[in-house]
Amino acid sequence: MVEQILKLDKEIVSEIILENRCYQRVTELCELGTRFPGTKGEKLAREYILKEIKSYGYTPKVEKFEHLGWKRGISEVKIVEPVERELLSISLAGAPSTGKDGIDGEILFLGNGTPGEFEQYKDQIKDRIVFVTSLAPLGQCTPPRQCHRRTKYGRAVEFGAKAFIFMNSQAGMLPQTGSTRQNMTGEIPAVTIPFEEGELLKNLISKGPVRVKLVVENETFTNQSGNIVAELPGKKGDEVVIIGAHYDCHDNSHGAQDNGTGVAILLELARIIKNTKIKLEKTIRFIFFGVEEMAAIGSSFYVKEHQDELDKIHLYINVDGLGSGGKIFDTQGFDDLSAYILSISKELNYQLKIPNPAFSGDALAFVFGGVPVAALKRSGSPGIFNFKGSINNEDRGWGHTSADTLDKIIPSSFYESAILAGRTLIRAANHNGPIAKYRCKKEVANILKHYGMDEVLYYMKWPTIPIESKY
Ligand SMILES: [Zn+2]
Repeated sequence: MVEQILKLDKEIVSEIILENRCYQRVTELCELGTRFPGTKGEKLAREYILKEIKSYGYTPKVEKFEHLGWKRGISEVKIVEPVERELLSISLAGAPSTGKDGIDGEILFLGNGTPGEFEQYKDQIKDRIVFVTSLAPLGQCTPPRQCHRRTKYGRAVEFGAKAFIFMNSQAGMLPQTGSTRQNMTGEIPAVTIPFEEGELLKNLISKGPVRVKLVVENETFTNQSGNIVAELPGKKGDEVVIIGAHYDCHDNSHGAQDNGTGVAILLELARIIKNTKIKLEKTIRFIFFGVEEMAAIGSSFYVKEHQDELDKIHLYINVDGLGSGGKIFDTQGFDDLSAYILSISKELNYQLKIPNPAFSGDALAFVFGGVPVAALKRSGSPGIFNFKGSINNEDRGWGHTSADTLDKIIPSSFYESAILAGRTLIRAANHNGPIAKYRCKKEVANILKHYGMDEVLYYMKWPTIPIESKY
């Protein structure tokens, strides 16, 4: 069996590099238009994936679900005091409208919106417009989700703010979007502004009170979406390893890295592994999730609908936002899985780091389900810097902005991600027995509490879709 793994290794490495089809896949996905939930591009992306995966000999199915869709309208943000000036802005996804007359109020700047900053000023938040940056400063946010956009938004709502302004912490005149809530409309209007507009606001605030007026219009509707599932049966059919990537992206973005890269990696691994005709121990399930960018809705529905078989899923590998930077495997607080991943890293002769768990996106849906999760991620922001900062891990780089385009993908880094995902996947699929312990409800709760996620989830009001471990 070791020979078969080595044969698969060679196939994966040579096909990924020599064929260079991953990059071509991302190019084609970016040409479909935005893949934001509810758009034509979202449907085209599903059709594209189905056509591709069928051509490799799979019989995929679409597991449909309905969710609350959201469509962007106008966003006008104007400083009205001490000067008059309009700011470049867009709405955060899922945020409500202000009504025609808008909302007018005094801004309260809460820095990076860390738990400490909210705590310090919580008595002043009521009826103010809370303004924070997108930064998650290292050391002040444990877990990093304490400084996630949705946690900051949730804290602003909890303490009575009437609107929320989110500023990109990285330069480049680009607003950074993202969702406000999961499958529900946000309670207060929320807009996002570029770094430079935020700096202007901060300067004015340092001199005295600043009032702004927001006029925002958005729409909600019911969207039909779906997860695409394709299976490669193993010798032990009911033992499963899943590799998943979301195919949607934000409406302001081409979604090249986030997550054209993940979709391309799954497609290529599905093609290459099947072509070898090697049968591994466990079944490999390739899942292309819908609606991740509205707070992991597709994966949450998947975990909810498959609750009876969650203990048969021996590993979930999440592939999201790759194509540049270093590589890390986030094992989401499953310590026994970290040991396994590090042993693979040694076998691959690849220096792999396990970061502090971030509990993000589709990975978190599986954590709730008790399933061991390894999320392959990028470390370090790709090629973006501030005049006031440096390349770091504290913000999302070009992600969620209109600059998440093909040109940001670094081919060598993209190959590396695909190869690492593939070589880990085949080893996990060929592992005899469980890879890490399946967690019951109490153990999942303990992991989340241990990392301070119970508080984060409270402010995020997450999950809105009820998902939990089988036992
Ligand atoms: Zn993503």
